[in-house]
Amino acid sequence: MAVTNHFLEGKKIIVVGGGIAGCAFVAALHKLWNPDWRLPEIVVLERNPRDARHHNYSISLHGDSVNGGLVALRQLGLLDETLKHSIFGLRSGQFKMWDANWKELMSTQPRPWGDLPTGSMRIQRSDLERILVREAERANAVFHWGIECTRAERLDNGRIQVAVEDEAGVKDDHECDFLVVADGAQSKLRAALRPHDDLKYAGAVQIGGRAEFPHGIPQPIEENWGLLLSGKGVCCYFSAVDKDTVVWALSQQRPEPDTRASVAAPDRFATLKEEALRLGNMFSEPFRTIVESTTPSSAFVTAAMEKEPFRHDDPSLERTVFIGDANHAVSAFAGNGANLALKDGWDLAENLCYQSSLHSAVAAYDSLGFARAAEAIKSSHQKIDFAHCTSVKDSFLRAGLATGRWFMRMRGM
Ligand SMILES: Cc1cc2nc3c(=O)[nH]c(=O)nc-3n(C[C@H](O)[C@H](O)[C@H](O)COP(=O)(O)OP(=O)(O)OC[C@H]3O[C@@H](n4cnc5c(N)ncnc54)[C@H](O)[C@@H]3O)c2cc1C
Repeated sequence: MAVTNHFLEGKKIIVVGGGIAGCAFVAALHKLWNPDWRLPEIVVLERNPRDARHHNYSISLHGDSVNGGLVALRQLGLLDETLKHSIFGLRSGQFKMWDANWKELMSTQPRPWGDLPTGSMRIQRSDLERILVREAERANAVFHWGIECTRAERLDNGRIQVAVEDEAGVKDDHECDFLVVADGAQSKLRAALRPHDDLKYAGAVQIGGRAEFPHGIPQPIEENWGLLLSGKGVCCYFSAVDKDTVVWALSQQRPEPDTRASVAAPDRFATLKEEALRLGNMFSEPFRTIVESTTPSSAFVTAAMEKEPFRHDDPSLERTVFIGDANHAVSAFAGNGANLALKDGWDLAENLCYQSSLHSAVAAYDSLGFARAAEAIKSSHQKIDFAHCTSVKDSFLRAGLATGRWFMRMRGM
């Protein structure tokens, strides 16, 4: 008779969403799993077809505290590969704040935590996803691509049933012993299991797009990224995505979210461009050139949305854990959602491997994930207030006094 050493031995785990959090979890579980135990069966259900995800923007990964995504990537054994894709290399690419005339107000280079080689780096989101998917696929997980999960419910026998639909509209059900929900900010499973726990408007609207520069990105954003502050309630974020492309996003605090579609159709580009140039009329060149060089189909208007984290102490969530944006979406102003997703994936896997029961593993995961995400949301509110302040001098003073340590170690947006 087989001896059971671990509560997940021989059980079936479904992971909904093969994004950053989902893949980090699968790869971490594989890495930490004791080879003397029988592996659980792991199935990943991902809405998009493999290789069909094109996120044309870059993200910051942090390595200045134990909660940084670079720490999780090192734990996963993926740090060196990730660093190879650093957009600016490791020694350059600082986060800057400029005034409306591009005079530098502040520059940060976060100190690395422990013996990490850098305190922060930028990477194209699609590069990070590719690295994680490859690692998760090596982990004996079965991936079903192009499968959308629409609902989940607990059966009388305690197992979880997940309803799915493929690209042809064919419906099916999958059952599992443990469900990891990692389907992102607009989580369908959160809507099904926690219908009142939806995204909330974080108070700022961004207009932006991708500007192409076949002959080189204008200085100073060729080598750095950051925020142009006006001191008049408007700011503009810039970051290179590769050697020819810059993503920009001009933002303003507004009492209500913008009701226009989050991705503007190309024929609406002219209106958005005019609006950006009007709102950002105080910004010197190369602001106008960047806005004028935007690829029409890439233009967007989007409201910053977020969602406070939750713990899994509700009995209806027994055997179900939400990680990443599905649990706690932070707006782009936090510059931290991917970091949280990576850490969530690692921490959940680690606690599942080392705790003695599912219940204690989830409680231990909650105590780490909840506090980390709550702090990130609080910090993103400070960033939104600070970036849209109506006087640069005042805003620096306020931020410096109110948030001391945060200000000195300001992270990306
Ligand atoms: C413009 C922008 C800039 C950002 N900058 C940064 C930054 O600098 N630093 C940072 O740390 N974070 C940043 N973020 C946030 C970061 O990208 C997210 O927080 C992170 O991707 C969350 O990871 P996740 O795995 O939880 O969700 P996702 O990456 O969204 O993954 C969810 C996965 O689930 C799949 N899925 C969705 N619904 C279903 C379903 N019903 N069934 C099956 N599969 C489904 C999706 O296709 C996707 O693959 C930025 C985000 C944006 C938009």
